[in-house]
Amino acid sequence: MTNSQRRPLIAGNWKMHKTIAESVALARAVAETRIGPRTDVVVAPVFTALAAVSKALEGSAVGLSAQNLYWEAQGAFTGELSAAMLLDAGCKYVIIGHSERRQFFAETDATVAKKSRAALSSGLVPIICVGETLSEREAGITFEVIGRQLDAALAVIEERELGSVVIAYEPVWAIGTGKTAKSSDAQLAHAYLRDRIRNRVGPAADLVRILYGGSVKADNAAELLAQPDIDGALVGGASLDADAFGRIIRAAG
Ligand code: PEP
Repeated sequence: MTNSQRRPLIAGNWKMHKTIAESVALARAVAETRIGPRTDVVVAPVFTALAAVSKALEGSAVGLSAQNLYWEAQGAFTGELSAAMLLDAGCKYVIIGHSERRQFFAETDATVAKKSRAALSSGLVPIICVGETLSEREAGITFEVIGRQLDAALAVIEERELGSVVIAYEPVWAIGTGKTAKSSDAQLAHAYLRDRIRNRVGPAADLVRILYGGSVKADNAAELLAQPDIDGALVGGASLDADAFGRIIRAAG
């Protein structure tokens, strides 16, 4: 199977940017973008804007994602939100294990696994992030690192759930730096991840969408998205501008 048989997914991670009103305005502008019939588009605003953006996106082709969740259903977990609460706010997706959460909020492979399990059990599609740092790449252990991160998540996922799982390969050195992995290097990493999934579950690996993330822009998106194992993009900076994000969406088809 090539990526022509998986629906491309373009996801915008707005990180800790924008007020509720600004988020609604951006979501409306994204919803007005021409989106190809085979492309899925998702935006991930801050928690406080989720419900308002969900309302603004009603009837549009754009889906809603959260940027994080906690794995317990409810309880004394100050400051956290459960999968059910995200569904209640209108989310269909949730980003899990973004490198900024691993770096600044002590997320580990173990917490990523718990969060992935909680998301899937509640019916949210997890966008599970993996990626090596610059020093790991320079040490020649890229595949070891992303393989370990992937395995931790796969350990809690049933084969029948793989069609509802998204993996995002985001080399940490390429996030927000303007440096993009060469499309051929990105393809190698994506093929490695898919092979590793295939070794575990067989042909169901072809159902998993693997996104590339790391300084994706309108002018490099088409080349990255043309790679056979790159099924879409997780976009940070460029997703904060409707025009730039729209051009990336159009590069997907
Ligand atoms: C990201 O935050 O997931 C990301 C890839 O950011 P940027 O596109 O800004 O590099």
